[in-house]
Amino acid sequence: LFIAFEGGDGAGKSTQAGLLADALVAAGHQVLRTREPGGTEVGEKLRSIVLDHGQGEIDARTEALIFAAARAAHAEQLIRPALAAGKIVITDRYIDSSVAYQGAGRKLGETKIRELNEWATSALLPEITVLLDVTPDEGRERRPVGEADRLESEPDDFHQQIRQAFLSLAEARPEHYLVLNARLPVQDLHRRIYSRVLELL
Ligand code: C5P
Repeated sequence: LFIAFEGGDGAGKSTQAGLLADALVAAGHQVLRTREPGGTEVGEKLRSIVLDHGQGEIDARTEALIFAAARAAHAEQLIRPALAAGKIVITDRYIDSSVAYQGAGRKLGETKIRELNEWATSALLPEITVLLDVTPDEGRERRPVGEADRLESEPDDFHQQIRQAFLSLAEARPEHYLVLNARLPVQDLHRRIYSRVLELL
């Protein structure tokens, strides 16, 4: 079972991915919890190339290709082998993040970025994507204080486009998405996510 967590910055993806992984491990499942960009040695290096650069230092296409390259390595070296070994894979961000940030946010085109990433991963898609829907205002408030964020200075408009892009992806394939309001209490969100995942096991 392949599960992705998606949503804007400050949505609480890492918290929920962690709670889900812990619950599944406690129930006796083998779980691989991973994140993007990163997850592999190559991926972590690519992550630091993108995230260590200030805004505007990397052009949009280069950024999109670096994320796609990191994702190709992630899918091939980590996710596929884990799924083949019978593990449940939980990733913090996946293709939808690129469609939203590079496709919509950086205006490279959502269809193009989706196709690029489906090619990069040989169309390895999650059975379920948990979309934690957060408004730009809430996201800004919820980010941990002092957390350096490359995109922090982007206008709300940018974050609003990203939010819309995530929601459109969920609307296009509703059976593969669980869309939740990120403002719900942490344990409430966790219960809803866990029960949906149990249905899929
Ligand atoms: O998930 P995390 O917050 O660690 O992501 C790091 C940063 O990379 C975030 O600012 C996120 O918005 C950005 N990102 C991006 N394009 C992606 C994936 C993440 O701009 N495809």
